[in-house]
Amino acid sequence: MRKQSMPEAVTWGYSKENGPDRWHEYYPIAKGNNQSPVAVLSKDASKDPALLPWFTGYDPGASKNMRNTGKTLRIAFDDTFDRSVLRGGPLPGIYRLRQLHIHWGSTNDKGSEHVVDAKRHAGEIHLVHWYSKYSNYADALRKTDGVATIAILMQVGKNPKPEMKRIIEEIDGIKTKGKEVPFQNFDPSILFPQNRNYYSYQGSFTTPPCEECVTWILLKEPIVVDEHQMSKLRSLSSNSAEEPHCPLVDNWRPLQPLNNRMIRTTCQ
Ligand SMILES: [Zn+2]
Repeated sequence: MRKQSMPEAVTWGYSKENGPDRWHEYYPIAKGNNQSPVAVLSKDASKDPALLPWFTGYDPGASKNMRNTGKTLRIAFDDTFDRSVLRGGPLPGIYRLRQLHIHWGSTNDKGSEHVVDAKRHAGEIHLVHWYSKYSNYADALRKTDGVATIAILMQVGKNPKPEMKRIIEEIDGIKTKGKEVPFQNFDPSILFPQNRNYYSYQGSFTTPPCEECVTWILLKEPIVVDEHQMSKLRSLSSNSAEEPHCPLVDNWRPLQPLNNRMIRTTCQ
């Protein structure tokens, strides 16, 4: 007997049938007023002296594994206690690192989710943290201040950041959807650009269910990756090993309306 499959739109994705234009059919908040990503115009961002520097204290021992989810490359971290944390900046307290994942394009002119001064980058790394005053991650997702995500833009250039190497080296182990490799002793702060200036605003996850619980810390300075590193990312498959190869690319959500939200920026 043929196995009954879910309608394509239920298993969300990035294709015409199940892509961002249809997410709201199953996840109504995707049409909410505080969605991400947004376009940032530097001239319209309000310079806020109250926006402090942010700090991370990441324990390399907290990194657990790297996985091809079929929609992204994701690195998971132990968040059972305040082990790898983010604080300061726009945040009211201590946030625990839970996972890191990447959005990228099929070509270098697209892939980032946030667009700054009309420029779309080749990719964007998200480091997802949750407010440790809440009892667990699921609880934090229900609070407007529950999650803090650092976004790092990726720009293709000649002198790539050697720190991406670690991720790229292990990528062959997770070629297809569902594949996972151990990924230990990794301190993701090596991915941060030198300049720590940022934009901040209140928004959402950019993947379903698109919960509106995210304080974004969007770093102004992109990191440099090279063509080889991008092609390694693009070599991943969004299908499992038993299915035909389908390149995992263009896993980014289009821009969402800013509505009445303010984008703040640090004063340099
Ligand atoms: Zn993301």
